[in-house]
Amino acid sequence: MKHPVFAANWKMNQAPADAKAFMRQFLAYYPRQQDRTVLFFPSALTLSAVVEMVKDRTDLSVGVQNIHWEDKGAFTGENSATIARGAGARYVLAGHSERRHVFGETDEQTGLKVAAAERAGLTAVICVGETLDQRERGETNEVVLRQLRAAVAHIEPNQIAGSLVAYEPVWAIGTGKTATTADASVVHQAIRAALRDLTGERGEAVPILYGGSVNRGNAAALLAAPEVDGLLVGGASLEAENWAGIVRT
Ligand code: PEP
Repeated sequence: MKHPVFAANWKMNQAPADAKAFMRQFLAYYPRQQDRTVLFFPSALTLSAVVEMVKDRTDLSVGVQNIHWEDKGAFTGENSATIARGAGARYVLAGHSERRHVFGETDEQTGLKVAAAERAGLTAVICVGETLDQRERGETNEVVLRQLRAAVAHIEPNQIAGSLVAYEPVWAIGTGKTATTADASVVHQAIRAALRDLTGERGEAVPILYGGSVNRGNAAALLAAPEVDGLLVGGASLEAENWAGIVRT
């Protein structure tokens, strides 16, 4: 029996007032359901507003979209895992495709960020995914597993077992193109096998989310696929009724 995880990545959308209005609506549409977990990744400046809105709901948690890999220091404009934790975050996205491809984040930096998250008590959602070129060259599993191993290179097996992984093909993010359930499942099974190699039996329990143009129409089919334990959703998580519809899948 799956306990699915639904994660909303709001990217650079939703100012604090928008987020409060969203959450008022969402909470009305979505009464507590203990058989699933819902995560919100607002902008760092909107985080506190969302933390406040969900404080009475143990089924809802909040995370940041990015952290710096150092714990503190002269890094103007950045947020550390410790600051994020202090502001109420419990999760962090690590290695999201936009961090890798828009901001040039490397596999090594993602690994350092995952380690920083662990030090501060944040749960990392490790994002991996291939570009269209890499898929067409037949390199999907190689790329995804290289990203995964680099992301966990600086943490212990029990910490890997406490993380989440999100498979997000770069060509599917924000494009309206979605991996078929069969294609997603093949990659999820490869990730599961790698997690077993890295952590033994405990690798079975690591939720592996799918992300990339998920919407109300395709969510159920993706979630039913073998080894798909949840969904990481960008665009379709920005409107409360729509997001509640996906979360109730
Ligand atoms: C994402 O931002 O992680 C994502 C999957 O975006 P979208 O759902 O818009 O493709």
